[in-house]
Amino acid sequence: MKIDLRSDTLTKPTPEMLEFMMNAEVGDDVYKEDPSVNELERRIAEMFGMDSALYFPTGSMTNQAAIKIHTQPGEQLIADAYAHVYNYEGGGVSFNSGVSCKLLSGNRGMITASQVEEAINPPDFYHSPLTTLVCLENTTNKGGGACYDFEEIKKIKNVCDHHELGFHLDGARLWNAMVANNENPKQYGEVFDTISVCLSKGLGAPMGSVLVGKQQFMDKAIRVRKILGGGMRQVGYMAAAGIYALDHHIDRMEIDHTKAKELGAQLEKLDVVASVEPIDTNIVIFNLLETPSKHDFMKQLSERQIAISDMGQGKLRIVTHFDYSKAHHERFLTFLAEFE
Ligand SMILES: *Cc1c(COP(=O)(O)O)cnc(C)c1O
Repeated sequence: MKIDLRSDTLTKPTPEMLEFMMNAEVGDDVYKEDPSVNELERRIAEMFGMDSALYFPTGSMTNQAAIKIHTQPGEQLIADAYAHVYNYEGGGVSFNSGVSCKLLSGNRGMITASQVEEAINPPDFYHSPLTTLVCLENTTNKGGGACYDFEEIKKIKNVCDHHELGFHLDGARLWNAMVANNENPKQYGEVFDTISVCLSKGLGAPMGSVLVGKQQFMDKAIRVRKILGGGMRQVGYMAAAGIYALDHHIDRMEIDHTKAKELGAQLEKLDVVASVEPIDTNIVIFNLLETPSKHDFMKQLSERQIAISDMGQGKLRIVTHFDYSKAHHERFLTFLAEFE
């Protein structure tokens, strides 16, 4: 019985989700005639109180489309140095949009309003790229599932308004942040121009992300999606998984967060563990000491078929998710409690 905690993208649909998918009504979504996709888009737009939403195959594509919509070639966006849009989307910012990134060193992937203010190039100084967009990530991926303080997001929004910058949220794991901090989608919809959310992570759908936003931006989204090759046909079977997840899989994320905290507490007790980063949601990042027992720890994990991610620079990552059951959790906790 393998325990796979490399990512929360590894989940498979539950029998109930599969059944719901099989019964989906579908049509050709490139013609906007897929009732299930249309329903998912309507639901997400309504949840966030935003004008409209568009279903995409991946979160990389929603982010890349948003950046394309907000910018012109030669311009610059501001993001944290850990940002997924910069680190993990294959260089798409430059490939798709011809845009450069001004990277800020924030706290666990999160930047502040004053950092943003300082990073904006003066628009009349034509030697520098024109700053036109700020991208935030909540929760942060490389930052270990950290969640923004919403007050800071509002301050950053004020800076964007003052300097007429676009404001995009990479909310791949926004559901986790909202569950952990008791926030609601509408408050996010009020401050951002565009938001990308993933259905394929903690929500447990097999694929799919949604870009939701103000009409002036969303008007351009469908053409950009087509250009990027993201126009899909009878994809309502997959969108139905998203609808099912919105109804049944949001609140339960609390369980993933509790399990992550319990693993973190157990890791803290181990001599081989140098440090555990703060745990806000479903991601645990920790460091092992360079001792002989480091090798032993990794070997025993793999012997017990427990898979976690090596992030490099001595960092290891655990991501809890829907398919990480109570029985899995007990087995992992027992292993940690008994490890010497
Ligand atoms: C997973 C993730 C994405 C999107 O990833 P895809 O695999 O392309 O769906 C975007 N941003 C963050 C922060 C992520 O963790």
